[in-house]
Amino acid sequence: MENEPTTEHQSIESKSIQGGCYCGRIEYQVQLPVKWCAHCHCTQCRHTQGAPLVTWFGVDRNQFQYLKGEQDVAWFDSSDSAKRGHCIHCGTPLFFLSEKWQGEIHITRESTQEDILQKPQIHVFYDRHVNYLAFEDQLDKHGGPDGFSPLTKQNEKSE
Ligand SMILES: [Zn+2]
Ligand SMILES: [Zn+2]
Repeated sequence: MENEPTTEHQSIESKSIQGGCYCGRIEYQVQLPVKWCAHCHCTQCRHTQGAPLVTWFGVDRNQFQYLKGEQDVAWFDSSDSAKRGHCIHCGTPLFFLSEKWQGEIHITRESTQEDILQKPQIHVFYDRHVNYLAFEDQLDKHGGPDGFSPLTKQNEKSE
């Protein structure tokens, strides 16, 4: 099998997707494959995006480039070690950078309408999830103080 052409792999490697903000002033391009895709239930994601959860995907910074509008991204420090970027015109949340994930950029899944070839794989900060929406998928639910520790059935509930 070693000599079989790895067509599928190559096509993912060479595929890129585009996304951007709602008003269209910011556009980016990402070279696939993405590293991961996850649902985040942390308080910061929910509050800053006005949503019950936020789905993100991550890529290496060198797989990401602006096509236009880099100057229209407003960054604010959401913690001592992380910042979030949104469009200054339409407010669309787009990016997350953290010292915890150096060399990586996290991008809101809904800022692209294209197939990123990776379905969400996990819930993080799940023990903080809202109580007005049911999450009935079979994905792993992680949480705890760091947001990324496996949860048992008992501590999955939000307070
Ligand atoms: Zn915009
Ligand atoms: Zn979050």
